[in-house]
Amino acid sequence: MTLTSKTAVVTGSTSGIGLAIARALAKEGANIVLNGLGDEAEIEKTRAGIESEFGVKAVYSPANMLKADEIEEMVRLGERTFGSVDILVNNAGIQFVSPVEDFPVEKWDQIIAINLTSAFHAIRAAVPGMKARGWGRIINTASAHSLVASPFKSAYVAAKHGIAGLTKTVALEVATQGITVNCISPGYVWTPLVERQIPDTMKARGLTKEQVINDVLLEAQPTKQFVTVDQVAGLAVFLCSDAASQMSGANLSMDGGWTAK
Ligand code: NAD
Repeated sequence: MTLTSKTAVVTGSTSGIGLAIARALAKEGANIVLNGLGDEAEIEKTRAGIESEFGVKAVYSPANMLKADEIEEMVRLGERTFGSVDILVNNAGIQFVSPVEDFPVEKWDQIIAINLTSAFHAIRAAVPGMKARGWGRIINTASAHSLVASPFKSAYVAAKHGIAGLTKTVALEVATQGITVNCISPGYVWTPLVERQIPDTMKARGLTKEQVINDVLLEAQPTKQFVTVDQVAGLAVFLCSDAASQMSGANLSMDGGWTAK
């Protein structure tokens, strides 16, 4: 157990990558602030499951990543409940696929707010406590789309390039204070977020489901395999370890070779 007595806030941890990261950090002994949307009973089952499986404490924050005050309260909940927020994983995210001229303005605004601005609000709330304790780990779930683009994902690619820049900037600001800031850039990971974009990609490109999976998604990845949520979570755990204390401001690809092309 390397993270005993640490507390991790993981945004968007009711599903997919965030849930895998929350569980992996709990397995290392961290107390967890779960966050995300979803069915109340399901979320409670997830929360209680983390406590019983890993012998840690977990609380749920219903903070909506569209709302600055709720994001700040999520961090305060962690500090009030456990005494500190030592690890912040900015992971919540949504996707929308459309040609730029038809891109709904409210979808653009939501993607920028959830995938980028929410990380700014959580970071500004959590950094003072990390500085006071001289230790912190901030991990942002970026994407291969923080490094390269794909058509019809203008808002997502803009937000992910933005979070890569935010990662580097904050890393420099806190570099001497025992706090590291990195982003993980997965390629395609089989989660509800990827499943949900298949119908719109079929429409935007005039393809069947199989063609989208093989010719669009896996076409990008030289390994021709999806990344797993547990592989992403493993990297997050490593970033919290002492071995990673000199890694900061990095954009770490886990994309089956996608961005090597
Ligand atoms: P997911 O849909 O399984 O999970 C997204 C999480 O974000 C859920 O818990 C959801 O409730 C939460 N969320 C969405 N809107 C929210 C809001 N307004 N307030 C609070 N929580 C909200 O998707 P995922 O694939 O696990 O995505 C997680 C992160 O990984 C995202 O930032 C995504 O961009 C990134 N990512 C995913 C892939 C992939 O292929 N799946 C690849 C690269 C990066």
